[in-house]
Amino acid sequence: ETRNTSGLSLHTRMLIGFIVGAGAGIAANVFVGQAGWLDGLIAYVTDPVGQLFLRLLFMLVIPLVFSALVLGVVEIGDAKSLGRIGGKTLLWILVVTAVAVTIGLVCVNVLEPGRGLPQDVGQELLAAASDRATEVAGKREGVSGIQILLNIVPRNPVAAAADGDLIAVMFFALMFGIAATVIQSEGTRSFVSTVQGVYDICLKLIGWVIEMAPYAVAALLFSITAKLGFDVLVQLARYVGTVVLALAIHFFVVFPLLLRTFGRMSPLAFFRGAEPALLTAFSTSSSSATLPTTLKVTEESLGVPRRVVRFVCTLGATANMNGTALFEGITVLFLAQFFGVELSLVQQVMILVLCILGSIGAAGVPGGSLPVIAMILVMFKIPPEGIGLILGVDRFLDMCRTVVNVGGDMAGSVVIGRSEAVAEARAAARQPG
Ligand code: ASP
Repeated sequence: ETRNTSGLSLHTRMLIGFIVGAGAGIAANVFVGQAGWLDGLIAYVTDPVGQLFLRLLFMLVIPLVFSALVLGVVEIGDAKSLGRIGGKTLLWILVVTAVAVTIGLVCVNVLEPGRGLPQDVGQELLAAASDRATEVAGKREGVSGIQILLNIVPRNPVAAAADGDLIAVMFFALMFGIAATVIQSEGTRSFVSTVQGVYDICLKLIGWVIEMAPYAVAALLFSITAKLGFDVLVQLARYVGTVVLALAIHFFVVFPLLLRTFGRMSPLAFFRGAEPALLTAFSTSSSSATLPTTLKVTEESLGVPRRVVRFVCTLGATANMNGTALFEGITVLFLAQFFGVELSLVQQVMILVLCILGSIGAAGVPGGSLPVIAMILVMFKIPPEGIGLILGVDRFLDMCRTVVNVGGDMAGSVVIGRSEAVAEARAAARQPG
């Protein structure tokens, strides 16, 4: 937890930013209403501060996602020596993360926490913000069906990065990582360590940018509540409820089912054994910071063999994030509903894929998923200012989703450990004598 000279922790400062920004914004909305100076204040002070923060987040997206994905693939590829475990882990990550995002998308489509804003207000916000959205999103106007799928493969990776075409960049990074693991030469090894350096630098930079979050929260919330008043906060509460509900379904229904069916472990025993790591995840909001506890608890309390734990939990801390993926899906759709942006089924499927990759590409630190979300928003022409709206409540949701992220690593270890034990027993039985 970072503290500054005021001695207050970052999340306390963010909460203060939220209260100050929302309070002043609502007061302005109620008592001032439409006034020239208020418009000026928004246009020349609070909007620019918020914009600055968003720009800094955008700045980090491409290097962060590229380096995280290349490293993720390389780590999985290195596991070839671990043979089956690597394959099983990859399968677990992809399937269970897809389930998580699907739960999130179903919840947000059914509950529609973002609807209810008067149509014209949403349109107005959208119009104000969409100049900037198109500025970043470039020329992808009116593409559909086959074209969307084809666009996954960039014609030119540099242009894709320049246009902020996240999915194309992700595709390129995946291919790059795969090739780097296949070759294994002096050159590729030094390339990988350079990429590791890029990744470490990005993490440091995110830490600095997040330090600015309290001011950005205050500014962005002021802008939005001054325009919309108290109703926004009601909608925000519904959004928080939706995320928590979906996370709870994944945590208390999906994990127990998987543990019982494939791990032969009673969910109660699992939660009891896993508790220290889950609590650490909740209080730190960081899968990476929790990793030492995760490793210890999974081995000692859940009884999973060390080589399985080491591999699954270490990789999982950065690449297996069920809670983050689910959260990203709900957030993107919530903001689409909020601003009145219609998303087709094909687009929602694209969002599903992006959220899976986005959770692999997110860093295991507090707020690690925010840059990815900012980018997905722009891709679908949803105003990225929406980030400001959710930022004020993000700390709490971050704590909750990190618990699900870490829980997923441990549940995966149990299931994979169990299936390894079965495979070994079979092999031993086949051996004569
Ligand atoms: N804080 C999360 C984690 O470390 C990542 C995120 O969703 O922001 O797992």
